[in-house]
Amino acid sequence: MRTRLAPSPTGALHVGNARTFLLNWAHARAAGGVVLYRDDDLDGPRVKTGAAEQARDDLLWLGLDWDSDEGVLVQSERSNTYEAAAQRLLDAGLAFPCVCSRREIERAASAPHGSDGARYPGTCDGRFASYEDAHAQTGRDAALRFRTPPDAVIFHDLLRGPQSFNPSLETGDFPIRRANGMAAYQLATVVDDAETGVDLVMRGDDLLPSTARQILLQRALRLPTPAYVHVSLVVGEDGRRLAKRHGDTRVAQLRADGVTAEALVGWLAWSAGLARPGERLTARDLVGRYQLRAIPTDPVVLTDLPAPPAASEDAR
Ligand code: GLU
Repeated sequence: MRTRLAPSPTGALHVGNARTFLLNWAHARAAGGVVLYRDDDLDGPRVKTGAAEQARDDLLWLGLDWDSDEGVLVQSERSNTYEAAAQRLLDAGLAFPCVCSRREIERAASAPHGSDGARYPGTCDGRFASYEDAHAQTGRDAALRFRTPPDAVIFHDLLRGPQSFNPSLETGDFPIRRANGMAAYQLATVVDDAETGVDLVMRGDDLLPSTARQILLQRALRLPTPAYVHVSLVVGEDGRRLAKRHGDTRVAQLRADGVTAEALVGWLAWSAGLARPGERLTARDLVGRYQLRAIPTDPVVLTDLPAPPAASEDAR
């Protein structure tokens, strides 16, 4: 088994991200698998200085490790590789240049839209022969969109069972390269996972619809499809995904408050059905008792975060 930990350095790691990475790591280590590390730093404007280093440091503190002789992949250094894949899709007629702005797409869409934005209405499909042609006709730099086939994508999630999504109805033709030339997440992930031989992808269930899009790209580029596990997210008591309004849930803050790695791993393991309430354990301990089927698929509601050890415990 080969998997990867791929944090996005767009902000600090909070307990929700930490839970996903811990479970991903334990899943691979329990199977004797290889763990790779990747910086998903393509989201230019949202990338925060120092966040990549902080994420690594937090994960090491939690007790995770990775097989670093395999090297760490940094997505922002791989634009030529992504560009070649985008070009293959363009040459094969499976993608087309598009000059629509997000606002134009939202205005053109009749249906209300979800978190992935409005469904692309197909405006630029068949309009331009090339990026240059798009620029000559409109004066704009073109993005590249993958033309979604009409059928639903069915795949098996190792934890949740059969899944069915229809990208052509949900997002429509989706971007694989932005107008500034940067690869979009869907394409970069697919290219990297294939090139590094990743055969198990474990991540948050907010990415389930993305998995369907990624499978379409794997098919179009004739790349293998890895096995997938999507774990639930940690949400606040209001049922919404963790954000500032839920207080400071950053791993770095818990560390600064004196919470031990064993207390946090224990809490995360408990939230995944793998430890008793209040139990403390190391990441290594978790590997010994890890079981995928113990993990609940319902969202984890953030209740009491682990507290720093009481003064009396400190003195021991
Ligand atoms: N970088 C993404 C994240 O931190 C994960 C992407 C993936 O696993 O494909 O949520």
